[in-house]
Amino acid sequence: MTAAIEITGLHKRYGRRVAVHRLDLTVRPGAVFGLIGANGAGKTTTLRTLVDIIRPTSGRVHVLGADPRHAGPALRRRIGYVPGELRLEGRATGIRLLSFYAGVSGERGAGSGTLHTARELADRLGVDLGRPVRSLSKGNKQKIGLIQAFMHRPELLILDEPTSGLDPLVQREFLALVREARDAGQTVLLSSHVLSEIQQSADEVAVLASGRVVAEGDVASLRLGSIRRVRVRLAGADAGAARDRFTRVPGVEALDVTPRDGAALLAATIEGDIDPFVKAIAEYKVHDLVVEEPDLEESVLRLYGQDARDEGDAR
Ligand code: ATP
Repeated sequence: MTAAIEITGLHKRYGRRVAVHRLDLTVRPGAVFGLIGANGAGKTTTLRTLVDIIRPTSGRVHVLGADPRHAGPALRRRIGYVPGELRLEGRATGIRLLSFYAGVSGERGAGSGTLHTARELADRLGVDLGRPVRSLSKGNKQKIGLIQAFMHRPELLILDEPTSGLDPLVQREFLALVREARDAGQTVLLSSHVLSEIQQSADEVAVLASGRVVAEGDVASLRLGSIRRVRVRLAGADAGAARDRFTRVPGVEALDVTPRDGAALLAATIEGDIDPFVKAIAEYKVHDLVVEEPDLEESVLRLYGQDARDEGDAR
């Protein structure tokens, strides 16, 4: 089976700075593949080489069996692309712009199937296609970007930080679009620096740090979601005693307990099974509980720590 995307030894240098370091990556047809990494990890650079916006210093990329440097418009029509920094400044309305793009993708006329799909997508995402695009908010511009990528039902979707600027409800609709694309046999490669977004949508993931893949596999095997940050307010608890108690709970790290207004405020990072921690707080009266994912960089460094750092340094 030919890979949808095959990246071999991709190396990109900007002057003395190496943005992507001899990267190998394969995306199989029909997969939803997530590329995650902190700011500056090399995600945008990698995705741009796939659509021939930038060219590799060395290495090869193959997209749908073709070399993007030579395949031209015929290949681009088979791809839907959302750039990381979308700029829509023109006076044209959303529908005019999308109509233009539909023409580029090979369809003409207001009655085309592509434009019909565009209108459906606009309804689902909640954006007015009758307004000049330059007057739209950042999130609504992003929706136009998503519509132009999805509307011609391309074989391959390359989405660079696709949910940037979208509110949570629209993000959920976007995730539904990705699932539908997969069900229809389309391949999706998306990048994000938000772990939960990738966890909810991708079958396979590669973690980029300093231009290199530091981990690759299915979402569960990467354990990135197994690190959580918690904050709890324990009513009437003595901070010292609470510190002693929680120091002994398996998985609890970076524990910080401070007294406040007759309560103990507890902040900690939990690695792995959260159950022992939940059982421990159940011994107290819990006034507030916040569980959040740490930022990606923290998760990556914690789990792949020294490797990620060494790789970054070894340029
Ligand atoms: P973000 O999430 O912030 O968009 P990213 O993972 O997409 O980050 P890239 O934009 O690919 O990262 O950047 C990778 C590295 O290459 C960064 O160190 C960045 O500063 C550098 N870089 C990117 N584009 C250029 C450029 N045109 N000139 C010089 N350096 C660049």
